[in-house]
Amino acid sequence: MPLLVTGTVGIDTVETPLKRVVDILGGSAFHFAIAASLVAPVRLVAAVGEDFPPDLKKFFDGSPIDTTGLEIRRGSKTFRWHGKYFDDMNQRESIRTDLNVIAESPPPIPDGFRDSEYVFLANTHPDVQRGFIEQIRKPKLIVLDTMDLWINIAREELIRTLRHVHGVVMNDSETRLLTNLRDIIPSARAILEFGPQFVVVKRGEHGATLVTRDELVALPAYPTTTVVDPTGAGDSFAGGMMAYLASVNRTDTAALKAAMAHGACIASICIEDFSSFALKRADKNEVNRRLGAYRKMLSIEGL
Ligand code: AMP
Repeated sequence: MPLLVTGTVGIDTVETPLKRVVDILGGSAFHFAIAASLVAPVRLVAAVGEDFPPDLKKFFDGSPIDTTGLEIRRGSKTFRWHGKYFDDMNQRESIRTDLNVIAESPPPIPDGFRDSEYVFLANTHPDVQRGFIEQIRKPKLIVLDTMDLWINIAREELIRTLRHVHGVVMNDSETRLLTNLRDIIPSARAILEFGPQFVVVKRGEHGATLVTRDELVALPAYPTTTVVDPTGAGDSFAGGMMAYLASVNRTDTAALKAAMAHGACIASICIEDFSSFALKRADKNEVNRRLGAYRKMLSIEGL
């Protein structure tokens, strides 16, 4: 089933305790699309400025990512983000966010993409996310991600948008920020009250927890030993998860659980290099190899 992602495609500067890398391709929809394309074709909708380096656009070449919806807007500047990780790489701060083209009118969803049934609203302004929902004809599953900036500056808009989505994928710190509740499960349940049917709380190296009105599923992260740059881990988790759901055309809890396993294995590839270089080098065999190891890790003899 067709899968569509909207969000940011931008240029990042990333500092880890070991290295500072300037002007690499990033953005929520970028990481999502590269990750999802390891499992299923993806339609990308985003706007960049005319300063967007053509070399970076080549990154999408040869992948099943349809970039018809990637608008290169004349006279505008590309979204830029500068993030810095602490010694504990689960913690980071945004040093600078230049919204640029993101603060202007959003790109339209091309006509040929409006029949998408699986839709991921990657991080961007919640009003823009709602505008995208209105353009989709018959969505089967709409899932939204958000982050601290939007919770801080557009809280009411975010709560309004949450009424129109089936699912949410969020970091633990962001569920706390949105609900003012300390513990993950109560805060996810409080988000269900806003409208969605499920919340997947991403917890970095501690895995992810699915919360629905009557079920709870906690899965670990895939234990990689090479953490180079965690940027995009959350988006690539969502990419793997949504691409699996679109490929099996299911949205039930059992499918969500298998989808989260895909997300965990694919996110573990993303963090092994800066930007999405490791995902770009990977193939389906690598994803299947990690899924096999993950399945083995989770099966407990005697249980
Ligand atoms: P993640 O590590 O999964 O949270 O995703 C990080 C990516 O999100 C980076 O490549 C950034 O370019 C992008 N990003 C950072 N801040 C924002 C924001 N406020 N809205 C949308 N995208 C963002």
